Amino acid sequence: MSETPSDQINPIGQNLIGLSREELTAELAKLGEKPFRAKQLWHWIYHRGVSDFTEMTTLGKGLRDKLMENYVVARPEIVTEQRSKDGTRKWLLRTADGNEIESVYIPEEDRGAMCVSSQVGCTLTCTFCHTGTQKLVRNLTPAEIVGQFMVGRDSYGEWPSPKDGRMLSNIVMMGMGEPLFNTDNVIKALKIIMDGDGLALSKRRITLSTSGVVPEIKRIGEELGCGLAISLHAVTDELRDVLVPINRKYPIADLLDACRAYPVASNARRITFEYVMLKGINDSAAEARELARLLKGIPAKINLIPFNKWPGAAYDCSPTPNIQRFSTILNDLGLSAPIRVPRGRDILAACGQLKSESLRAHKAKLSQADALPA
Ligand code: SAH
Ligand code: SF4
Repeated sequence: MSETPSDQINPIGQNLIGLSREELTAELAKLGEKPFRAKQLWHWIYHRGVSDFTEMTTLGKGLRDKLMENYVVARPEIVTEQRSKDGTRKWLLRTADGNEIESVYIPEEDRGAMCVSSQVGCTLTCTFCHTGTQKLVRNLTPAEIVGQFMVGRDSYGEWPSPKDGRMLSNIVMMGMGEPLFNTDNVIKALKIIMDGDGLALSKRRITLSTSGVVPEIKRIGEELGCGLAISLHAVTDELRDVLVPINRKYPIADLLDACRAYPVASNARRITFEYVMLKGINDSAAEARELARLLKGIPAKINLIPFNKWPGAAYDCSPTPNIQRFSTILNDLGLSAPIRVPRGRDILAACGQLKSESLRAHKAKLSQADALPA
């Protein structure tokens, strides 16, 4: 593990994290360096996790000095790292322009998934999602997306990037934001993460979750071929228009057509359909049966998510027996429909809860700043 010493932070330096291999090669060409130097640098940054140029001993002093003058290797700044009783970790991260994002790591016994954000906030306003109530929104850069994963690796000290037995074995693009409103940056970031000479996460270990930005789904299949998760949550357009308002633009039939056309959809790599369980809203036996009917012909598995209530939310979580009944009906109709165990509730790290603390902290800080004498 390596940290950027604060005396090395070069305020005008461009961040090398987030550049594609071609861009990194072009940057080094500007310094008069051959392409193999870019390969070495890539290895230092993404395989070894090193951010201090002075540690990059294969590069030669002259080049290291030039790099130090012009560039940085910078993750987002860690504001806080919280650890849940169940092992879940949550980071509040600050970007260079002072925005705040959250990332969550969810451990299993011998592996785990980093839940990565794609935007500051979200422009969509799904009525059950806390992130959707956040006003401030901007797309994250490739550096900020890749940087979140690297912060997780730092926290576990998993450098050099191990091939086997890693705790940070998976990525789910299920943090704050709608990844397919930031498709270019998300694709660029995930390509960096998938690169075998660096962070080396296979596309089979990456899942992108979307609320249903239909025209972008094809690109994900073609350019990444990673796993796809769809936030479905309702079986009629009437209800989905309310819960997931992007449905008014891309209704259920169009969304499911895009899923049928998703290139990696096969029985071995099924599409995940996420379904948040809302008491008396979408949790009836009839809706479970309708869900199975809708998904006929699609290699699908369903993830039933108990609703995580947040202050001011208009919904309640379905009672456990209703969720179990829903799951059993789907199972009996041949669909796998496990109930997701909420993780990290004590640190507000569960699905849909990301935002609150950061905004509150942000506001508190602003008012503190106001109170300071000029
Ligand atoms: N914007 C993307 C990815 C982030 S949300 C999307 O919507 O798919 C990740 C998952 O958490 C989505 O399925 C989302 O619908 C779900 N979610 C949001 N708020 C939730 C809440 N309060 N309780 C349970 N799940 C929630
Ligand atoms: Fe945005 Fe996803 Fe939340 Fe909807 S569920 S508001 S798309 S983050």
